[in-house]
Amino acid sequence: MRFQAAVLRSYEDPFAIEEVTLRTEPAVGEILVEITGCGMCRTDLAVRRSAGRSPLPAVLGHEGAGIVVRTGGPGTAIGVGDHVVLSFDSCGHCRNCRGASPAHCDSFASLNLFGGREEEAPRLTDATGGALAPRWFGQSSFAEYALVPARNAVRVDPALPVALLGPLGCGFLTGAGAVLNTFGAGPADTLAVFGAGAVGLAAVMAATAAGALTVAVDRHPGRLALAERFGAIPLPAGTAGLPERIRRLTDGGAQYALDTTASSPLINDALRALRPTGSLGLVARLHTALPLEPGTLDRGRSIRHICEGDAVPGLLIPRLTGLWQAGRFPFDQLIRTYPLADINEAERDCDAGRVVKPVLLPEGRNR
Ligand SMILES: [Zn+2]
Ligand SMILES: [Zn+2]
Repeated sequence: MRFQAAVLRSYEDPFAIEEVTLRTEPAVGEILVEITGCGMCRTDLAVRRSAGRSPLPAVLGHEGAGIVVRTGGPGTAIGVGDHVVLSFDSCGHCRNCRGASPAHCDSFASLNLFGGREEEAPRLTDATGGALAPRWFGQSSFAEYALVPARNAVRVDPALPVALLGPLGCGFLTGAGAVLNTFGAGPADTLAVFGAGAVGLAAVMAATAAGALTVAVDRHPGRLALAERFGAIPLPAGTAGLPERIRRLTDGGAQYALDTTASSPLINDALRALRPTGSLGLVARLHTALPLEPGTLDRGRSIRHICEGDAVPGLLIPRLTGLWQAGRFPFDQLIRTYPLADINEAERDCDAGRVVKPVLLPEGRNR
């Protein structure tokens, strides 16, 4: 079948909307999804700086959501017509997958970022028959259709606005999962969030929903205003004595801190803002060595990396849609939609900080 997709041909060029060809039917355990919307995540844009590790040309996009139009037979757990949110890929049988920790799948990097599953022949090609990279994050959802493993898809209530749900599969999952899964934050807990982008603001919303007190730090006044709207105490990143201010606001230090910036001065500030035994989670990829100031880890403080919010998507995504339906996780307020054809404008707006979460809407044929 042929359909439109946004193809990235080189690390420098803009995306190009092209007709692509899917040369296979869903195999057992796979589903074909008509994409109604796909979020743009920082990891999509980081491909440009992957120094050749993420293969091109490729169809990126890994926050897809849509409607199942075909399945790989009756053994597939998801059926035609189901509304689904697509999440990251995992192998399903390594030690961490078996331990309900698919975000730490042994094959996470290869399946999601650096080449996808081994497929005998190119399944997705361009109009001239040239092979495109194997699916990105098990999806490649900057397209009208995506062929995905059913195990990465989460069925959702058809009453929900499915076109907007894709970011629940990665960006919002990461921020909310850090708070609800990794930290297990609850009433009377305290949290400091560094960086109020899509991940940080999802963390703020989840913390507010969980009854925790949150301080949010960012350079952009607009982002701080959003953090405040969702229940956080806003603090500009340049505030003098930032860790002391946070400790005063959190009764002696935050129990948890989440860094989404990968800035080593801010990471040191985050550690200094923690109370004894407090934990710092890092979600952004570090590009340089991380020097820690003496004393920052004293008294039981800890630091760890968090991937995909430590989530089992099939458990966390329904929890987040339930909170949204109850008015307690208003993620839709972070989204601006663009036609898929305007993907380059969405990338520019994302880079310039003019939008928190772009969601790209394919034209579709039947809508
Ligand atoms: Zn695995
Ligand atoms: Zn992502």
